[in-house]
Amino acid sequence: MRPGHAIAVRAWPHATAFIWLALSIGQAAAAEPALPLGAGTATFADGRAPIDTLYRAYLQLLGVGWKLEIVAESKPAGTDHALPIIALRSPQSGPAVWILAGIHGEEPAGPNAIAAAIEDIAKLGEKRPVVLMPLLNPQGYARNWRYLNVATYTKEIDGQSVGDSSHLLPDAEEPGRARADSASSAEAAAITRFVLDLSAGYPPVYSLDHHEDNLIDEGYVYSQGTQGAGDPLAIEAVAVLRASGVPIKMGGKTRFGEDISGGIIGPVVDSSIDELMSSREIVLDGRLRPGPAAKTVLVFETPAAALTLEKRVAAHLALIRRLTGLLAAASE
Ligand SMILES: [Zn+2]
Repeated sequence: MRPGHAIAVRAWPHATAFIWLALSIGQAAAAEPALPLGAGTATFADGRAPIDTLYRAYLQLLGVGWKLEIVAESKPAGTDHALPIIALRSPQSGPAVWILAGIHGEEPAGPNAIAAAIEDIAKLGEKRPVVLMPLLNPQGYARNWRYLNVATYTKEIDGQSVGDSSHLLPDAEEPGRARADSASSAEAAAITRFVLDLSAGYPPVYSLDHHEDNLIDEGYVYSQGTQGAGDPLAIEAVAVLRASGVPIKMGGKTRFGEDISGGIIGPVVDSSIDELMSSREIVLDGRLRPGPAAKTVLVFETPAAALTLEKRVAAHLALIRRLTGLLAAASE
């Protein structure tokens, strides 16, 4: 058993009430909410920030006019209280940069780096529309559980990922049908529905998803968009990761047998939210419809077994700073 099993998540009563109170204060005073968000919630202790510290950092965006939505209240079996899955969006709508993190709860670097990069993300939001979903599996983060229903990947149990999009993605054999009849969890249903709904006003052009992998010694970048392994932002991401001291597997194959070229893997079929972001067609209510079709969809994988959390957070932070800087300066 991993240590995460033994960690009890203590009650955080009225999570939503705290958030909404913070929202109103944030809007009224245009300042960082001063409430003790999530106080008393135990977070897995490996050096990652306590979950209330993360929420407080993210909600600083309310002070510069961003809007908050509770995508879902996550309370999977075995937890005794709900934690909110939040999304924040910049004041200006239109073709947008989406930043995602924390889909897998045992991968803390992304959510921690986003908390440290809030000012950079706010600056990007001044230049172009941005949607931030910084902690998509809060219960997993608190417990160090990869999935909603199980702590780690196993062959025996089908792990429920909060990003599972198989109920919306066309089946290869029968493209008019989705790969699954229904979402694998309430969280996946709510998150994917939110992505599709908000895509009307904030269509994703760039989607950046921060992950890690504790079974590899060298990282890599998935590039699911139209330019695949040739996407200039993917190439830049590899350069930033290497400059941050992250070993990158530049060729050969991933542990899933996918080809790596220059540290980058082109489009893959994995039923993830990243595949959904890049998808030109989806199946909704039994019909094929246009998908989000983001031009650039990147997934960053840092090798959690090879580097300390501090170094991985620094690498993800460098990535966010570099990519938000480039996107703030770019015209499209
Ligand atoms: Zn992951």
